[in-house]
Amino acid sequence: MTTCAALIVAAGRGQRFGGNLPKQYAPLRGEKLLRRTLRAFSGHPKIGQVVVAIHPDDAASFAEAAQGFVNVTSVHGGATRQESVRLGLEAIAKAAPDLVLIHDGARPMTSAALIDSVIGGLATAEGVLPVMPVIDTLKRVDGAGVVGETVSREQLVRAQTPQGFRFSAILKAHRTFAGEALTDDAAVLERAGHRVTTVPGDDANIKVTTMDDLARLSAALTETRIGQGFDVHKFGPGDAVMLCGLKVPHTQGLIGHSDADVALHAGTDAILGAIGAGDIGQHFPPTDPKWRGAASDKFLKHAHDLLLERGGTLVHLDFTIICERPKVGPYRAAMVAAVARILGVTEDRISVKATTTEGLGFTGRQEGIAAQAVATVKL
Ligand code: MG
Repeated sequence: MTTCAALIVAAGRGQRFGGNLPKQYAPLRGEKLLRRTLRAFSGHPKIGQVVVAIHPDDAASFAEAAQGFVNVTSVHGGATRQESVRLGLEAIAKAAPDLVLIHDGARPMTSAALIDSVIGGLATAEGVLPVMPVIDTLKRVDGAGVVGETVSREQLVRAQTPQGFRFSAILKAHRTFAGEALTDDAAVLERAGHRVTTVPGDDANIKVTTMDDLARLSAALTETRIGQGFDVHKFGPGDAVMLCGLKVPHTQGLIGHSDADVALHAGTDAILGAIGAGDIGQHFPPTDPKWRGAASDKFLKHAHDLLLERGGTLVHLDFTIICERPKVGPYRAAMVAAVARILGVTEDRISVKATTTEGLGFTGRQEGIAAQAVATVKL
């Protein structure tokens, strides 16, 4: 069985990135960028050992990024990328795997399919690199930005990582050409006279170099979630019901520990559901006297605040109120406005609908009101 190690290069200081934080340790969707990179390699079934070349100052950040990955270890890198790779290869040399993949720590989006493809290419070559076509027209410009000539794109490709190698060949090449400032590992192997072939790269496999790259990647990783909520309250003595934060005159009231706003309770559970934060009873126990007669806008706002704390936004909140009476139609616009005001969002993000159940069931018998809500959020 062919053995394959991965060497992740993460020793750079990220001068192009700005700030003090090396880009590989920048936060991306709640975790360090490098952690996402490590997950792609550590969890791949064809990869055994993962060695990461790090800067000595980054030991604590690395430990956090690598926590829980049992096959990941680190080695101190050198002053240049090429030197860091050589030191990483020396650290792997004892295990002497058949193959090694060398990868930029700041490329967190590498797919298992791309890793498979690079490993597959090594069946017939000493080195394999994933490449992308050059789409944009290329120009040569002088220092003043004046165009000198248009460069032909023919036969030009952009090299990505992971670059794959027969381990013994790349180790020997790095030892031989140490200190020669070659731009990537394929160049080191080419220099040694070996055949390097290509496989198609992946558009998603971007290298994070600037803050803008990080922001774009973060936006691309945004996920949409849906949560739903349902609630019922029973009619009792009274002359009005609370629905969507609005007092609606009626021949009865709704019974509940709080103000019994059945719609806002469903809305609260919908938002809590979308972020996996339990339910309204957990956050506001009906046994707690604190919430006796409480206005339910507090509950809805609390759920929305939890969403915002997680970096999310409410895309849409859609209510369906189920009852024969009172008639909801005349109050619908005011209900939308009330919910929008509670949440501090525009009214186009709120929808209130109503239906009867044609006289059937408990709502049909006018024993109470039911409400459903569906929340759409971006996280
Ligand atoms: Mg309730």
